[in-house]
Amino acid sequence: MNNSKNPFRLNIGFIVKESVGYSRKFEFDYPNIQINPDLSFDNFKGFATFDRTQKGLVLQASFTGDLLASCVRCLDDFKETVTTNFTELYAFDNADTDENELTVPVKGFIDLKPVIGEYLMIDFPTKPICKANCQGLCQECGINLNHHECDCEDVVIDPRMEKLKELLEQEKKDE
Ligand SMILES: [Zn+2]
Ligand SMILES: [Zn+2]
Repeated sequence: MNNSKNPFRLNIGFIVKESVGYSRKFEFDYPNIQINPDLSFDNFKGFATFDRTQKGLVLQASFTGDLLASCVRCLDDFKETVTTNFTELYAFDNADTDENELTVPVKGFIDLKPVIGEYLMIDFPTKPICKANCQGLCQECGINLNHHECDCEDVVIDPRMEKLKELLEQEKKDE
């Protein structure tokens, strides 16, 4: 995607020039948006507020969107709503901060995409399930039990029955 079309690339240079206490809110609302090559959302909404403080710009953000996910039980694709709320400090000077902290870019533009992508992935379930009562796939024929029934026998043999069968067969041999 062309940088000039990236709606998450924000001009924050003017906020830096404002006095402490100044605040600016950016709002986002997209029917579909690509955050990174692996991450695309429907109904993406949210906001990012930058507060000018002594140390830097404090970002408070809240985003929600529908992500196409694959159910780990039945393998069907479904839409999972993901929401994230986070706060980050973009420091003016990293001399007294550790390397992991964000700093205000010299050019005055902040691209929120990487940070939004990171936070949304943290809040995305590692084992998404399409619905609480998802029936999953049949262990035998692999049919999706949410949509179809199958005639597979319940192949799980009770271990006690197995033992009894062995004993009966043994008796037969002994006779
Ligand atoms: Zn499922
Ligand atoms: Zn089956």
